[in-house]
Amino acid sequence: MTTGPLQDTNLNLEALFQNMADAVYLIDPHSSNIIWCNRTGHEELGYEKHEILNHSVLSLQKNVEGLPHWDEVKRVILNSPSFTFVGSHTHKDGGEIAVEVNTTHFEHLEQTYFLSVARNVTNRLTIEKDMHSRNQRIWFALNEATDGLWEWELESNHVFFSPQLKKMLGYGPDEMEPHVKTWINNVHSDDLDRVGQILEDHLQGRRGNYEAEYRLRNRNGHFIWVHDKGKICERDDQGNPTFVVGMVENITERKQLQFQLEKLAANDVLTQLPNRHQGEEHARQQIESAQSNHQPLCLAVIDFDNFKQINDLYGHQKGDEVLVFGAQLLKQSLRQNDFVYRWGGEEFVALFPNTHLDDIETITYKIHRAFKEADWASIDTTPLTVSIGIACCPEIAGDFDNLIKQADCAVYLAKEQGRNQTVLADLPAEPQ
Ligand code: GH3
Ligand code: MG
Ligand code: MG
Repeated sequence: MTTGPLQDTNLNLEALFQNMADAVYLIDPHSSNIIWCNRTGHEELGYEKHEILNHSVLSLQKNVEGLPHWDEVKRVILNSPSFTFVGSHTHKDGGEIAVEVNTTHFEHLEQTYFLSVARNVTNRLTIEKDMHSRNQRIWFALNEATDGLWEWELESNHVFFSPQLKKMLGYGPDEMEPHVKTWINNVHSDDLDRVGQILEDHLQGRRGNYEAEYRLRNRNGHFIWVHDKGKICERDDQGNPTFVVGMVENITERKQLQFQLEKLAANDVLTQLPNRHQGEEHARQQIESAQSNHQPLCLAVIDFDNFKQINDLYGHQKGDEVLVFGAQLLKQSLRQNDFVYRWGGEEFVALFPNTHLDDIETITYKIHRAFKEADWASIDTTPLTVSIGIACCPEIAGDFDNLIKQADCAVYLAKEQGRNQTVLADLPAEPQ
């Protein structure tokens, strides 16, 4: 029969305890003896009720040795509203049951009692163990599948760099201080502000995740390009981020290819000068800005004379060589702030910013002289000359299209007048 306070309360309360899935024990704090337990309390351990009652609650424990003395346990229970521990109870057959025990104390008719509720957590622990090893497997697989993983604890700024990531940067497993400053110190200074802003935006909730391409210094001091992607994976009670994890991919090869393609798209493959597409865009901008700033600017169309003959005489391959040689001569005869583009075939366009009509003659003279004095024998060919058509603003009004049209007419005239010369585009007639 029940003893103690449960006897004085109504039966429904005992029935309630009796049917609980957890084991419930009523304990005398002085002796540590169990003075009542529900059905689970003895059945789960394989005992009859009478085998449990009036025995010390400590006798349920698996490893009695090394346990704190009951007085110590009692003091802790009495001093806290509820005391929880995870341990093991012993089954009658010697087996072990993992339990989480929650004990509270209460007063009834001036007597103190302990109420312990023990929950069998065998399944939960198995699942947790499984989760733990599964997490490890996932972590392992991710590490293998990517070029590197990192975990950043924001409060301490401790960063775990995976062995794969260290390997990507040329470091051994015990190198790289696990601190965020290690990463900061190795991001290219031209990229740091941009990447830092993206990361900050994510931490402040302005971006769903952190993702950036930037340069990271490796152990040799060279920079590799990486694609870095991360996300907040833990927050504190106030919702502030506490943990960020991410993965890094080495994209150096892809970046190099991209740069090559960009260069190819902008530059002429043969002469390495900017091509017409690039030149037209650039020239339009320069002309617009010269006009809005009321600055002078000259544009030249430069065409190689009788170039067809070189192909005919020496073959197309030699023609190519001469084209490259001529393009170099053009580039060398220009000033530092002038531009020259390969417009197509053996025709070039040059742009002279901040240059007056009066100054252009000196410049074109330099070009003609460079072609005259060039060592053509060094590339086994006869000397080449050029015809140049010039259009300058503000003398010639209008935009890029008009300037190029006028310069084209001028070069046509130069050809007509015997080649190897410069012709200035016709200026509009002065009103009489
Ligand atoms: P003109 O003095 O009137 O300009 O005579 P030209 O022979 O220079 O002019 P034309 O337009 O008759 O011929 C241009 C030649 O340039 C024809 C073409 O085969 C050659 N050409 C154009 N692009 C290239 C190239 O990339 N490589 C080589 N080898 N030849 C080229
Ligand atoms: Mg020509
Ligand atoms: Mg031509």
